[in-house]
Amino acid sequence: MLFSDLKLSQPLQKAVELQGYTAPTPVQAQAIPAILEGRDMLAGAQTGTGKTAAFTLPMLEILSRTRPKTPHKVRVLILTPTRELAAQVAESVKTYGQFMPFKSAVVFGGVGIHPQIAMLKKGVDILIATPGRLLDLVGQEALDLRHVEMFVLDEADRMLDMGFIKDIRRVITILPAKRQNLLFSATYSDEIKTLCESILRNPVTVEVARRNTSSELVEQRVIMVDCARKSALLGELIQKHKWEQVLVFTRTKHHANKLSEYLEKIGIKAAAIHGNKSQSARTKALADFKAGSVKILVATDIAARGLDIDALPHVVNFELPNIAEDYVHRIGRTGRAGNKGEAISLVCIDEHDYLAGIERLIHRKLNREILAGYEPDPTIKAEPIQQGRGGKGGNRSSRDRGQSNAGNKSHASTPQQRDNRPRNSVQKSRGR
Ligand code: AMP
Repeated sequence: MLFSDLKLSQPLQKAVELQGYTAPTPVQAQAIPAILEGRDMLAGAQTGTGKTAAFTLPMLEILSRTRPKTPHKVRVLILTPTRELAAQVAESVKTYGQFMPFKSAVVFGGVGIHPQIAMLKKGVDILIATPGRLLDLVGQEALDLRHVEMFVLDEADRMLDMGFIKDIRRVITILPAKRQNLLFSATYSDEIKTLCESILRNPVTVEVARRNTSSELVEQRVIMVDCARKSALLGELIQKHKWEQVLVFTRTKHHANKLSEYLEKIGIKAAAIHGNKSQSARTKALADFKAGSVKILVATDIAARGLDIDALPHVVNFELPNIAEDYVHRIGRTGRAGNKGEAISLVCIDEHDYLAGIERLIHRKLNREILAGYEPDPTIKAEPIQQGRGGKGGNRSSRDRGQSNAGNKSHASTPQQRDNRPRNSVQKSRGR
């Protein structure tokens, strides 16, 4: 299929051509015609599948086909779970709509509300928002959502994970009853099903193959190593193989910071990206990473979601995620667009259960490697991650998911602290 088969108007075709896209991705090929017909939609698609264009292109087309009854009112509302994703969707709306007259705006928390109020006063057609800030703006009567024709819920599963369900329900009560609804979700749980039933009317379902779950493009490696030695091993791997662009995942913000500080200390340009960082710091870290001045981006799962980074050669699970699904999201960051990629997981004894859960999910047993000089110490016993070294990470249902484990008093809880101690002292400190 070609983009020209999708019956998009000239300004959109031109924008797509400028992006260098030759053919629609599977989710685009399925979603665009149905959205253009005005159908509600449930789309099972992850970041990297081209889902943003899958809803943005037909949305712009629909806007261009009708004249609004009241000009300068929000006609499309796109909700995203994170600021990063909101900013990236806004960027895509601008890119694809560059030859169209629509005004778009993005609002999210963590930055001043007043410039956003001023911007909204001028009138926007398309609003991209995170739920909390959207409701703040509604509360301040800075926003009129009575003219919304299309409502897009992007990464709905993440929204629920992050505890936004009440906010979503409140937003829905504000929107006009007659509207087109599009819901995108990478996973399909009972909660998502309930949400769909309450939002979508006679929806078309679009399902694209899970990206990379069984992709031969991603080589999955598991290296068994003691927790205390993971930082040193990672530093060595980066230096030895001269890796230039690596996305590294940790379970907590605190660990992301500590690891990035450690890497900097040994002379590897690194930056951490997570929810406690200011928006400008996150934007800068991402820009530096894309430009190559930062080689290692250390991220929590939430912060990494929706990051628009193409075809990374290496993804490292410094710590395995406590939700097996996140492993699939993480490794999907590599091996994209026909490029080969490598996903390396550093697994310590505490994480064996996580590894088993991942293997069950992907229906595959992963080969365990041991690297010379980093052999796991057989005398070390597993400790529960929630209370022990791995830091807090079990509570994924609150907004605090992935928060710093600063409250965790375990002395051996940070990668750097653990790495800085001689090996035998690690053992001694472990008796409880
Ligand atoms: P998304 O899933 O929306 O995060 O998109 C992932 C990446 O795919 C983005 O960098 C897009 O620019 C790119 N992309 C979207 N549609 C296409 C297409 N039809 N052909 C090639 N790349 C695309």
